[in-house]
Amino acid sequence: MIIRKAELEKVAVDPSQYPLAGYPEVAFAGRSNVGKSSLINSLVNRKSLARISSTPGKTRTINFYNINDALYLVDLPGYGYAKVSMEEKKKWGKIIEEYLNKRQELKLVILLVDIRHEPTGDDKLMFEWMKATGSKMVVAATKSDKLSKNQINKNLPLIRKSLNMALDDILIPFSSETKQGREELWNIIEKYCLI
Ligand code: GDP
Repeated sequence: MIIRKAELEKVAVDPSQYPLAGYPEVAFAGRSNVGKSSLINSLVNRKSLARISSTPGKTRTINFYNINDALYLVDLPGYGYAKVSMEEKKKWGKIIEEYLNKRQELKLVILLVDIRHEPTGDDKLMFEWMKATGSKMVVAATKSDKLSKNQINKNLPLIRKSLNMALDDILIPFSSETKQGREELWNIIEKYCLI
């Protein structure tokens, strides 16, 4: 994929604020600090298109990045940030739910988990719940540069098991440092979005 254009086009809380262009959409979900902004930036070869968080858990918006006037990469608000009130969590849930349940343009959800750790309870809930919405899903295991090849091979099956992934569910080790997994993710995105 040659990136000619990558721009933050819309910041939305409410469905009335979603873009109207009708391009296919790929949404990214994951715990705060899992490396979601870094992954989006490395997909589009930009250093700081998506914000790299200094204050995790503060973003409560859905950000639509226009790629080549052909596709939106959709950054969903990160979850699982401990210092967030119950009320904030509810708001977050509503924002995500409205998007995932109703968005016709959504073709693929990429769920990010940290390759070093067992998925959290929130990760498991997200995976189950997103699958139940009928969304096509891929899991990216981030920060793979922090582990040796041996450790990666040991952790991937544990992540699969913990999330209760089916045999044909796709799990991709990813690093925004080494770009491991970048091509593979683009291939999948292009396949589901027919671009
Ligand atoms: P977000 O909150 O999910 O958007 O996470 P960020 O992209 O802001 O990343 C959180 C922290 O993890 C930052 O300090 C990043 O530099 C670091 N990070 C993200 N991805 C990677 C990666 O692939 N490898 C390494 N070593 N660090 C990463």
